[in-house]
Amino acid sequence: DDDTSTAPTPEKPTRMPSDRLSPCAREAQRLEEKRRLRRLEQDTARERAALTDETSEFKEMITLFREKNVTDAVAAGAAASAERLRVCVRKRPLLPSELQANEFDVITAFGRRAVLHQTRRRVNLERCLENHSFTFDAVFDEAAGTEAVYAATARPLVRGVLTAGGRMTCFAYGQTGSGKTYTMEGGGGGAESGLYSLVARDCFAAVEAAAAAGTPLRLSMSMFEIYRETVFDILTPQPSTSKVSVLEDAASEVQLVGLTEQRPADAEQVAALLETARAVRRTGSNGVNERSSRSHAVVQFVLRAESTAAEGATLGATLGKITLVDLAGSERAADTMEARSGDARVHAEGAAINQSLLSLKECIRAMEKGAHHVPFRGSKLTQVLRDSFLADASTTVMIAHVAPANCTSESALNTLRYAERLKAVAAASTAST
Ligand code: ADP
Ligand code: MG
Repeated sequence: DDDTSTAPTPEKPTRMPSDRLSPCAREAQRLEEKRRLRRLEQDTARERAALTDETSEFKEMITLFREKNVTDAVAAGAAASAERLRVCVRKRPLLPSELQANEFDVITAFGRRAVLHQTRRRVNLERCLENHSFTFDAVFDEAAGTEAVYAATARPLVRGVLTAGGRMTCFAYGQTGSGKTYTMEGGGGGAESGLYSLVARDCFAAVEAAAAAGTPLRLSMSMFEIYRETVFDILTPQPSTSKVSVLEDAASEVQLVGLTEQRPADAEQVAALLETARAVRRTGSNGVNERSSRSHAVVQFVLRAESTAAEGATLGATLGKITLVDLAGSERAADTMEARSGDARVHAEGAAINQSLLSLKECIRAMEKGAHHVPFRGSKLTQVLRDSFLADASTTVMIAHVAPANCTSESALNTLRYAERLKAVAAASTAST
């Protein structure tokens, strides 16, 4: 019986009524039908898997981008220039909790570039990446330690202040959870030092060298917080007297009236003061847990000449001042959350943060432009930092922090845009002259 030779092909199932077929052919048709159904099932399963495994497809696209583009990742670091303003980016690693949630890294850092891959769907539902590319003075990826970040960003400018005087201000900008406090205070249970203690270490080295050279210096430290446009001393042992008045004296110098100045003698004392400040912040006036994301924290190191001529030491003018600012979470700028919230207090907070971060950008841009009018009065933050900005020898470092997870890429993109705009003025004015 040669009926088997006419068995239906998978593509063209036979329409022949099965009762006219031989039992053998009928069996073949039944098997073929079964096979066809199984294949259909497999296809659907594969499609479903492809849909749910969007993550791996995007991951693959990002890997491909890196293979094609990242050639000079090792050369990361700053160009050692003597610019007045440095704008850098630090990308933190994905956190264990994010990895657990199947989050993936959408930021590629290489050389002086940071590329944010926005995951998109085309109209035909095809997945694609929208790559936003930015160039900064330096970009640090998740492998860079804080010490390396410091060495390539703030340290050369701190050295300048310690040897020649002047002012240096360093800002940590970024959304809450992007690593600002990790950079400033340190992290990993003390495993990594933060900028506060790294700067202190350099200051003490300078004090020792000055003493050895017979021109003694005195180092003092103060720390305050700007919360809802009010300045609070966070090194004072009495929280009830923590409110600081901001006044401008006759020479329109800014005075922080009543701000505690401590004189730490060594790195351990600085660490102890920082710990005190952390405790004060935690239990601050309204005791809200995540207040640190809603206020700016400022640490200032001031160096003055100390004349030991007579028995009483007298203090000379400020020789150098180093200011480190852990800014409030940038998600409060331009935000949605506060706008949607009916809570007036929360709304006022968001508005104040928004205003101060915008104001900071405007002041930095105005100074970069060499403008006559710098809008310092736009916020308490910029008003308080005025003399740091205006001194003849003053330099500024902005470290913009980004978290790499896909789910927070919108905030990261906003941060990169904010940071880029700080420098855009300089680039534009250089180009036009
Ligand atoms: P922010 O101050 O911007 O809100 P944090 O500094 O608190 O953010 O960082 C959020 C979390 O990410 C913390 O658990 C912190 O330990 C971790 N983290 C931040 N930066 C790094 C880094 N470079 N390496 C490892 N972990 C980091
Ligand atoms: Mg923080």
